Amino acid sequence: MNDCIFCKIVSKEISSDIVYEDDFTLAFLDIHPVTKGHTLVIPKEHSSGILDTENAILEKVIVTSKKVGKALLAATKATGLNTGSNNGESAGQDVFHLHFHLIPRFAKKELKAWPHHDSEPKTRAELAMRIKENL
Ligand code: AMP
Ligand code: ZN
Repeated sequence: MNDCIFCKIVSKEISSDIVYEDDFTLAFLDIHPVTKGHTLVIPKEHSSGILDTENAILEKVIVTSKKVGKALLAATKATGLNTGSNNGESAGQDVFHLHFHLIPRFAKKELKAWPHHDSEPKTRAELAMRIKENL
């Protein structure tokens, strides 16, 4: 993936503030942090999101996220951590190389969480059935 910015970070063509690296994963500070210490964890091998990433690689990315997340909390004195991955343009993904956001949290009110809505038991049951049929 020649024009992928995160592949260029892996190959060090583009500099970044790397906090952790092993054979399969890389973690570096987000250039536009949501909170202090916002870090991205990526696989070194290109894939666009979690849906097209091999399970073995996904496991490595999650294990690295846990390791770096612990260090982030210790380094920033944060008391919580949001982890998440945007997958697809409609989900807000801007860089199409799998990444997990590690966002240290200092106070519940500093960020607005996703809005929740009421739902009907019947609607949930139908939806759960349809999802299970597609597994
Ligand atoms: P997403 O919207 O989930 O695709 O997130 C992409 C993230 O990558 C954003 O939080 C950006 O601030 C971050 N980002 C983009 N370019 C760079 C870069 N060169 N170094 C570090 N973070 C970057
Ligand atoms: Zn890439």
